[in-house]
Amino acid sequence: MNSVLKFFRDPDLGTIETRGFKVFNERTLDRIDAIRHLPEEIQFDMRVVASVLPFRVNEYVIDELIDWSRVPEDPIFQLTFPQREMLAPEAFERMAELHRQGADRAQISALAWQLREDLNPHPAGQLELNRPRDPEGSVIDGLQHKYRETVLFFPSQGQTCHSYCTFCFRWAQFVGDKGLRIASNQVEQLLGYLRAHRNVSDLLITGGDPMVMKTRNLAQYLEPLLAPEYDHVQSVRIGTKALTFWPYRFVTDNDADDLLRILERMVDAGKNVAIMAHYNHWQELDTPIARAAIRRLRETGATLRAQGPLLANINDDSAVWARLWREQVKLGIHPYYMFVERDTGARRYFEVPLARAWEIYRDAMQSVSGLARTARGPSMSAGPGKVEVQGVTEIHGEKVFVLRFVQGRNPDWVQRPFFARFDPHATWLDQLRPAFGESRFFFEDEFGSMKPAA
Ligand SMILES: *Cc1c(COP(=O)(O)O)cnc(C)c1O
Ligand code: SF4
Repeated sequence: MNSVLKFFRDPDLGTIETRGFKVFNERTLDRIDAIRHLPEEIQFDMRVVASVLPFRVNEYVIDELIDWSRVPEDPIFQLTFPQREMLAPEAFERMAELHRQGADRAQISALAWQLREDLNPHPAGQLELNRPRDPEGSVIDGLQHKYRETVLFFPSQGQTCHSYCTFCFRWAQFVGDKGLRIASNQVEQLLGYLRAHRNVSDLLITGGDPMVMKTRNLAQYLEPLLAPEYDHVQSVRIGTKALTFWPYRFVTDNDADDLLRILERMVDAGKNVAIMAHYNHWQELDTPIARAAIRRLRETGATLRAQGPLLANINDDSAVWARLWREQVKLGIHPYYMFVERDTGARRYFEVPLARAWEIYRDAMQSVSGLARTARGPSMSAGPGKVEVQGVTEIHGEKVFVLRFVQGRNPDWVQRPFFARFDPHATWLDQLRPAFGESRFFFEDEFGSMKPAA
């Protein structure tokens, strides 16, 4: 498995070996050397889970990010490899039985579709509520416009990732369900929408991972934005986990330099280009190639911001977050969001009660300097908006959560504190009840009226 192509010379880091992109999926799981050394039982569990949830991992992650002497606890192993407890015991057992019987692909696939239905494949009403329409009233594919200032764009060529996260909230689109796919290749539709909406200041290009696209494909979306009719689009954000999963994208891939040049041109033309990097653990920042990629991106004048969910079995530890934020600041990345794991997919394995999430956030914040205290959180991306747990306190003898919207479907909701009854087990907004004997949260009636009639 020797895929080294050439060497990259970094002025500070010296010589970095480059590599070709080699990736494994559920069909090729047992060709991964490191996996073949694990007990057969564990390999079987992995095959069972990987037939339901998406699995994809590349050789860089396997060789450089995972510490195999610490498997199965290693956080990057947990981040990318299927684990038995990701499925409910009954679901696991049903799928395991098929595998034991040597069932064919069609049978396995049929059961997989059934089991996925129970895993809330499209959380927070993404399909019904956020889809903009063109002037003729037809839905524009690949756009989401939930918050006034920011349009999300999902380019169709960017609907995959260099590896898959086991906790991914967009997992449904990776298992090939066309009906669930939010994607588009229609450059003109995006541009038309932006021209017609002068109040949109931010475009967020997301995926999957837009950085899986060739530079020339990404460029068809970025370059037109330099024209004066898009002056109102001040910030262009690109959401990516390529700095973790494939940093070679920014350093040694054939079109890495072209990519950096486009970003630079956008910055020179007065745009704020923000790389929204998805990170979960400081181990992701620890390789020379990851650091070279970060440095090269910064040199374009783009800003780097970091966001990612808090996850049991990966980073539910304040020391891990403190070290992650400190490392980020050292490398010139601004901590931006700590998210609460969404109510979808393998949530049962990763969820952390809100009360515990807030403690981890608080303890991590208390142990870093002000420059690393820029992360908001823990924040739930729920139907009505992004809701942050600001703390736990007691008011007139009642223990409560203090909450606020950091983003709201109605901008008037943003920054208004509100209160929920304390519940040590609650993991999501829909499990919380208003405090002080009230029957509804202040936004509930208005949010209810925004939902399309069924
Ligand atoms: C988070 C998010 C945004 C961006 O919100 P900011 O607070 O500006 O970072 C935009 N659209 C959706 C749907 C989001 O979830
Ligand atoms: S990088 Fe994002 S979209 Fe891709 S698998 Fe991970 S969470 Fe999902």
